[in-house]
Amino acid sequence: MIGIISAMQEEIQALLDNLHNITITEKGKRKYYSGILFNKEVVLVFSRWGKVASAATTTQLINDFDLKEIIFTGVAGAIQPHLNIGDVVIGKNLYQHDLNAQPFYDKFEIPILKKKYLKAKEHSQLLSSTTFFLNEYFEFIDKSEAQEFNITHPKVIHGDIASGDQFISSKEKIAYLNSELPSTLCVEMEGAAVAQVCYEYNVPFSIIRIISDKANDNAEIDFSRFANTVASNYALGILKNYLV
Ligand code: SAH
Repeated sequence: MIGIISAMQEEIQALLDNLHNITITEKGKRKYYSGILFNKEVVLVFSRWGKVASAATTTQLINDFDLKEIIFTGVAGAIQPHLNIGDVVIGKNLYQHDLNAQPFYDKFEIPILKKKYLKAKEHSQLLSSTTFFLNEYFEFIDKSEAQEFNITHPKVIHGDIASGDQFISSKEKIAYLNSELPSTLCVEMEGAAVAQVCYEYNVPFSIIRIISDKANDNAEIDFSRFANTVASNYALGILKNYLV
């Protein structure tokens, strides 16, 4: 089956509304909903926020269910000027921007693994499913809500993502990340933790991130408005195309 983790309760709800034959397992304060979503066997879970929460959820998921892959969805802050609110980033390489075990390891290097980033699953199918979703965008997203966030031509980009236990909302922090990890498109708080657990258990993984803010002074305001309205329908739209 396919494990689907979201860092948003709203997004899990949108998927749950389409899940059939539901069985609920509760462990470690998380509810794991298994069932059939668009004709595929899946298990859905809300991970909560941050690297520890998402790593613990991923480990539980892998140990309790027979998974062939994990898909993580959520929102993220853009740190590159060409990305706009409503765009989708499909993760390529996942970094932990707050990991620094110098002088024992290089900055960003994951102890023992000898890696500074982990690679997500090869993504052509997910990229085409997302493109398909963006072409039929207004079947899933309310026009007035899209307008409110100035979303006109949302695009999908395949690129690097950095995770850390911080909500990024300042120009200084963006400048630091741009110089230290120049290939990073967006920042969030879970992807690289999920990536590390999946790597260690040898489970292919994908990270889907919808841009909710630009990691600047406005990030907090944009974030909550966006998560509650537009974002929860993205996972539904993208996964509908991916799973069928
Ligand atoms: N909604 C929560 C807060 C979530 S924390 C609450 O009200 O308590 C922020 C979430 O959005 C995390 O899942 C993180 O992955 C993502 N995110 C979005 N924009 C971000 C940014 N600018 N910096 C870090 N994480 C961001």
